[in-house]
Amino acid sequence: MNIAILSRGETLYSTKSLQHAASARNHNVEILDPTFCNLEIENGKAVLYYEGDLIDDLDAIIPRIGASNTFYGTNVVRHFEAMGVFTVVSSLGITNSRDKWTCFQVLAKHQIPMPRTLFASFYDFEEQLNTFKGKPIIIKLLEGTHGEGVILTESPQNALATIETLNAAGVKFLLQEYIEEVKGADVRAIVVDGVVVAAMKRKSKAGDFRSNLHRGGSSEIIELSTAEEKLAIKAAKAMGLGFCGVDILQSKIGPLVLEINSTPGLEGIENTSGKNISKSVIGYIERNIRKLLP
Ligand code: ADP
Repeated sequence: MNIAILSRGETLYSTKSLQHAASARNHNVEILDPTFCNLEIENGKAVLYYEGDLIDDLDAIIPRIGASNTFYGTNVVRHFEAMGVFTVVSSLGITNSRDKWTCFQVLAKHQIPMPRTLFASFYDFEEQLNTFKGKPIIIKLLEGTHGEGVILTESPQNALATIETLNAAGVKFLLQEYIEEVKGADVRAIVVDGVVVAAMKRKSKAGDFRSNLHRGGSSEIIELSTAEEKLAIKAAKAMGLGFCGVDILQSKIGPLVLEINSTPGLEGIENTSGKNISKSVIGYIERNIRKLLP
């Protein structure tokens, strides 16, 4: 099979891991930087050129679209979809997961448990903050990643000053209840083709509430409960993602979905869990391409 990894960083761990897994199964694999893909519609058909060469022989793509390249990157994925190329994550799934509020709305349609979250175009600040009954509040930028753009405010006064500042700067944000009992830990589950293939627990470094490994958090292997596993699978399905990371908070009322990542980093989770996630992704492609063959 001919497989392309859409990635801007051919030296990145995840890109290399996927490339290696595809080669190990004797597939032809190439890395295409989505920003060098030129998209055309010719005679009513989607056509794609890469550095001047027509790309018309791909069976599948593995999009690794970074947050800084969402708009053009999803355009490239959508173009491949229009060309009939199988993709492990759909352009719609990427778009819906990128914006935290859109993601929550899609998940809510499927009754997926999440922390209580508020979003408004006009905030009656005091009234909105009062609904949190004096408890700490999380304020999040809609498109933050790696824990940047997530603020924990310990008091309504701090929250008020922060959201007034964001509002004055024209920045979109959401308000969320702080799940205090998780004590800076969360669970990352990787779902491929409706199955949890790896999971880890991430813990924040001392003094931080954010468990992101990019923020200096640590990770350990974890066995998911049946409820957590079912929730991760349901969330991935709701988002229409064949390959994604599902972040879960282990709250006292049960697992709550925090976020879905359509381009999950593989280094931390493959090293922590000892699982070859890339191999699972290639297996997913193989099963689906077979279905498409005459
Ligand atoms: P990002 O997409 O930037 O990683 P997240 O929404 O995943 O943003 O938040 C980053 C981290 O902050 C999470 O992994 C979690 O550890 C912590 N966190 C976020 N929201 C909450 C919350 N509502 N309650 C408790 N901890 C939270």
